[in-house]
Amino acid sequence: MAKQAWVDQDECISCGVCIDNIPDVFRFAENGKAECYDPNGAPEEEIENNAIDACPVSCIHWKE
Ligand code: SF4
Repeated sequence: MAKQAWVDQDECISCGVCIDNIPDVFRFAENGKAECYDPNGAPEEEIENNAIDACPVSCIHWKE
């Protein structure tokens, strides 16, 4: 199975960076925290560079 990103919502500060950068993969959930609603919405490299590495609190991780 391909790697899938997931957001640790306990750590997410709702800054919106991942959603602004990759709206095809991340969105705000009803609780106001980010969620990965389409793990296949962008290439792994884009998710790595523009979400995982860009998150200010490093709360986006790979689940394999
Ligand atoms: S970049 Fe990180 S802290 Fe900001 S909304 Fe996305 S998951 Fe939350």
